[in-house]
Amino acid sequence: MPDLTLPPIVAIVGRPNVGKSTLFNRLVGKKLAIVDDTPGVTRDRREADGHLGDLEFRVMDTAGLENATDDSLPARMRRQTEQALADADIILFVIDGRAGVTADDTHFANLLRRSNQPILLLVNKAEGQAARAGFLEAYELGIGEPIPVSAEHGEGMADLYQALRPLILKDLPEIEDEATDDEDEAAAARRPLQVAICGRPNVGKSTMINQLLGEDRLLTGPEAGITRDSISVSFTHRDREMKLFDTAGLRRRPKVHDKLEKLSVADTLRSIQYAEVVIMVIDGTQGLDKQDLNIAASVIDEGRAIVLAVNKWDAVENKDERLQEIKDRLSISLTQVSGIPIVTCSGLTGRSLNVLLDQALQAHKRWNFRVTTSKLNRWLEGALEAHQPPLVSGRRIKIRYGTQIKARPPTLALFCTKASELPDHYIRYLVNSFRDTFDLPGVPIRVVLRQPD
Ligand code: GDP
Ligand code: GDP
Repeated sequence: MPDLTLPPIVAIVGRPNVGKSTLFNRLVGKKLAIVDDTPGVTRDRREADGHLGDLEFRVMDTAGLENATDDSLPARMRRQTEQALADADIILFVIDGRAGVTADDTHFANLLRRSNQPILLLVNKAEGQAARAGFLEAYELGIGEPIPVSAEHGEGMADLYQALRPLILKDLPEIEDEATDDEDEAAAARRPLQVAICGRPNVGKSTMINQLLGEDRLLTGPEAGITRDSISVSFTHRDREMKLFDTAGLRRRPKVHDKLEKLSVADTLRSIQYAEVVIMVIDGTQGLDKQDLNIAASVIDEGRAIVLAVNKWDAVENKDERLQEIKDRLSISLTQVSGIPIVTCSGLTGRSLNVLLDQALQAHKRWNFRVTTSKLNRWLEGALEAHQPPLVSGRRIKIRYGTQIKARPPTLALFCTKASELPDHYIRYLVNSFRDTFDLPGVPIRVVLRQPD
């Protein structure tokens, strides 16, 4: 079972060339970011798993902030940085101790002070004595006690750890394995809904995301060709904050036109790692193929809610037949989950993308579904009566009692005799009956059998 705990997001912000990428690499522990002396070379946001001692978090590197107001690359970077502030739980504001406090740093500090997130001020390049003056100046920024570090040499990491630790441990979301109470559910509703968009190359994922965001968030403009490791973008749909995660297929690599290029199951699993709901995109002009079904099956096996986007609908000729064909294939080949929502849409024209997001919201709700033990047992009684468990060596298996042990996805524990002998088809019957009764189409439902002593 994948752990769906969402780690806190730590954003690294600051003007170009202060050492953000170097710090990113140090926290991530890999050479992921591009480090360069040219200011502004880190043009996009990257996210990766980071750690410091026993602290685990997501690190987000941002482009630097510039004062430009036109739609130049620096202006776009600035917008992305502001967005990062909206996404992050904790901010590491980095300045260059050797350069001292610059006008850009001050401007940036003014912006940051308005945000609600905790901010740590890091004075980088502080190895040796060269950053001493810069360190003292840093107090003037009014962002609390500066922490001298050297991202390049790994100095000051213990102090950073001390400062981060209380912030991260406080922010750590609860690991959910028992029924949560109402308060937890309210907290879950406030967190941005994490959506991954996955599908084979060329089905139209990038086009769709750019259309959804209504802006150039994926940097598909003239400066394209920048490699990035992972991107998440946030936006609001019907007052609900949503966070879209890209997939391997979204990276701006040279475009792949070979339709046979595979999106491996491993790529899919990586891309849905932080997702609650997965929007699986297929090319409507081509229909649902074997690879699409494999991707969908792995999404379901990972316990995520799934919505199927049949894209490029504007270019589909025999719409009725195509839709029927897709529905048939789904019901024949994906028996694990019935009722997967299907939305025909066009990323190019924007048609039905709102419907797609509505479906994602609803799928998320169903994925969080909880039922009381008494209701569950009322259902169970009826289901057992309608269709009795089979006989095993002449004796009937008895299912005595059930309870929901968790949500996300809904997971039931059923207490029964001869648990190991209950056949799969019977479990499938119970799952489908549960799904119908509580109206949970498209959501994986898990059953754990327990045998009382
Ligand atoms: P970014 O633009 O903020 O992402 O900055 P980079 O991480 O690309 O770093 C800019 C330059 O500063 C590079 O030449 C780095 O090698 C250098 N740099 C980064 N951290 C340190 C540090 O701790 N000490 C020193 N002396 N140089 C550093
Ligand atoms: P990705 O690899 O999944 O991100 O796919 P892209 O977004 O790069 O799109 C691949 C190709 O399909 C491009 O030539 C797009 O113009 C085209 N495309 C994307 N969405 C649509 C759509 O809704 N309708 C049509 N007719 N073409 C589309």
